[in-house]
Amino acid sequence: MQCQLVCSKCSKVLPLNTLRGQCDCGGVLLAEYDFERIGQAFTKESLKQRPTTLWRYFDVLPVEDKKSVISLGEGWTPLIRLAALEKRWPLQELWIKREEQNPTGSFKARGFSVAVSLLNEHGIHKVAVPSNGNASAALAAYAGRAHMEAYVFVPKDCPSPIIKECLHYGATVYKVDGLIHDAGSIIQEGQKEQGWFNVGTLKEPGRVEGKKTMGYEVVEQLGFEFPDVIVYPTGAGSGVIGMWKAFHEMKQLGWIDGDLPRFVSVQEENCEPLVTAIEQKKDSVTFEGNEAITSAPTGMRVPQPAAGNLLLSILKETNGTAIAVSKNEIKTAQRELGCQGISSSPEGAATFAALQHLFDRREIKPTDRVVLFNTSHAMKYMESLAHTVPQIRNYREVYATLS
Ligand SMILES: *Cc1c(COP(=O)(O)O)cnc(C)c1O
Ligand SMILES: [Zn+2]
Repeated sequence: MQCQLVCSKCSKVLPLNTLRGQCDCGGVLLAEYDFERIGQAFTKESLKQRPTTLWRYFDVLPVEDKKSVISLGEGWTPLIRLAALEKRWPLQELWIKREEQNPTGSFKARGFSVAVSLLNEHGIHKVAVPSNGNASAALAAYAGRAHMEAYVFVPKDCPSPIIKECLHYGATVYKVDGLIHDAGSIIQEGQKEQGWFNVGTLKEPGRVEGKKTMGYEVVEQLGFEFPDVIVYPTGAGSGVIGMWKAFHEMKQLGWIDGDLPRFVSVQEENCEPLVTAIEQKKDSVTFEGNEAITSAPTGMRVPQPAAGNLLLSILKETNGTAIAVSKNEIKTAQRELGCQGISSSPEGAATFAALQHLFDRREIKPTDRVVLFNTSHAMKYMESLAHTVPQIRNYREVYATLS
């Protein structure tokens, strides 16, 4: 649907066809729609007839012609109760949003379905992305489907199943000796010469809009009620920004009222810029230096989130917080979710690990309704996980020692 871009910091307005994600002032450019007009046809009731993908929310996405849409069936993922785990604290309602069920096995599919559709509509054919892994796989898949050339740049410790996945979708893969922002610098430097459109986080408006649909879905799936707390594994933060935006939009549409859920951003120890900023009561996020970063190559490993200020303001506005969890806590949480039948990535497991911290700090109440985001599959990380899984046993040998 028609929209324009508005700076979240200085309120400057730019046309959508600039395809920009950030303003000259450094603020984030967010798509803004005419809700009064849209709200006439885009009603809660109308959703019943719509597709079970994120494109059910077409009216509030920045693509104008349905023919431009590049879809692999993303979105409308299950939101299920973790009843057995609620008993531990106890917690009244614990839900998990199964984002690993998206195409390419992660919620990055949402952002790239919308971004690639938007770029497709605007005649872009050559795209590049710096990524910890899942963004590159998602770009590769959607670019493939849109007949675009894709170039992806990942740190050299990116899990190899993800690298193979990118090749499988036909992308060109470059390994980078450094972190995600080093990959970003390479694209920045080469983009004029190579003709790449940079689809990195907040380089264009589509990815945030795609991630926003998680917010619409959670509210719709809970019967048009807000949860009390959203626990989200945060890297560059486009999901937090997107859901926060969705909740405000749904209020503007008159679909829901009341307080927004509290956002809890979860990061891994040793790459926790948001946690540090909150502890030190800062309103901007500062860089810690690459050497200090020993956290695993996951989507949370983003030492320099480009929209740090906006993220902090969202955590503050919603009375939320940021929590760092250790590698061991993540491993334990991953097995606990595994034993509930959930294939959870380290990032998804980190949100479960964060719950104990929230209880210890009394930042969560037993009566809260909490939603965790399982943003990707365990499968992609199995190789690095192998030693945390109990030994595989040979039945004949075990049987022989028993008898
Ligand atoms: C990218 C990613 C994240 C972080 O998401 P942001 O919205 O960029 O903060 C979390 N989990 C997984 C699996 C990811 O791929
Ligand atoms: Zn601005």
